[in-house]
Amino acid sequence: MRLATKQLFNDAYGKYGIAAFNIFNTEQILGVFRGAAKAKSPVIIQITPVARNYIHPEILDNILAATEKRYPDVCFTIHLDHGDSIHCIDAIKSGCYNSVMIDASHETFKKNVQITREIVNRAHNEGIAVEAELGVIRGVEDRFSVEKKMAYCTDPEMALEFVEHTGCDSLAVAVGNRHGTYKLSPGQGLQLGLLARINSLLPGFPLVLHGASSVSAIEVERINRAGGKLSSEAKGLEKKEILQAIRLGVCKINIATDLRLLWTRVHREFFQNSPAAFDMTIPGLEYMDCLEQLVSEKCMDLIISNANNCPDETP
Ligand SMILES: [Zn+2]
Repeated sequence: MRLATKQLFNDAYGKYGIAAFNIFNTEQILGVFRGAAKAKSPVIIQITPVARNYIHPEILDNILAATEKRYPDVCFTIHLDHGDSIHCIDAIKSGCYNSVMIDASHETFKKNVQITREIVNRAHNEGIAVEAELGVIRGVEDRFSVEKKMAYCTDPEMALEFVEHTGCDSLAVAVGNRHGTYKLSPGQGLQLGLLARINSLLPGFPLVLHGASSVSAIEVERINRAGGKLSSEAKGLEKKEILQAIRLGVCKINIATDLRLLWTRVHREFFQNSPAAFDMTIPGLEYMDCLEQLVSEKCMDLIISNANNCPDETP
C-alpha cells in the first residue's frame, strides 16, 4: 500500500523512525519488502540516480509496481535519493515517486535555497514531497565525494531560514553523520546538542539522518576472513544515538551501507566455501533471506513507543 510521505512522517514523528533503504537490484527490493512485511512496519524504498540508471528507470519502476501488488499490506513510499535538478524533474515526471531529495548542499546558501525552491514548486504541483539538505554530509554517496575541506555541519538558524524560504517538507542535516563504512572517528558520535538546537527552532518539522548504518564489526570481520580488505576501523552509528535522534525530530533514517556489507559478506563467503560453484541463485536466495532479517530488525530497532503500525490510508 503506497502512502504519501507526509502521512508517514506525521504518524512517525517523535514515536519511531522510518527506515529508508537504498536498493540497487531486484534481490534488494524483495528483501526490503519481505523484511517490512515481517516487522509490519512502514518503509521507504530509496533510489539514487545511479541505482535508477543501473537497470533502467522504466524497468525499475515496473519491478517496484509488480512488487507492490505482491505485497499489498506493506506500507511504503518511493523516494529519489540525492538528486540534482535534472534527476528530480525526471523523477517527478515519471509519476513513480512519492518524494524526491534535491541535494544542492554543495552550493552557496542562496543558490541552495533557489534550486530547492524551484524543485519544491514543481513537486508540490504533482503532490510529491521534497527533502532538501543543508550542511554537507561527508563521505561517499555513489560516485559523489565531498572533499573534507568543504565539510560543514548544519547551522540551526540557517536551517530555520532555509525551511521558511524553500517550503521543503523535510531536511537532511549534517550533525556528525557520514556516508560510507567509516562514519565516526573513535570517541566521536552524533552531535546531539546541535540536533537538539535545530529541533528547537523547527519543532514538529521532520528531519532526516543520512549515513545511519550501524556497520556491524562482525560483518566486517566475516568479509575480511573471506578475502575482503575493509578497514577494521569501519564504524557506524549506535542504536541509542539513533533513538536519541528520533526523539529530536528525525523521522527518516537512511540505511545503505549495511545492505552493501551484507551483500558482500554473503557472496564472498559463498564463493570462498564453494569455489566450484557458479550459480547466482544460491547466494541470491541467501542474501534475500538475510536481508529480510536485517530489514525487520532495523525497523523494530527504530521504535520509541509502541506505535510502529501502518497508518490508515487517507481516503
Ligand atoms: Zn545520503
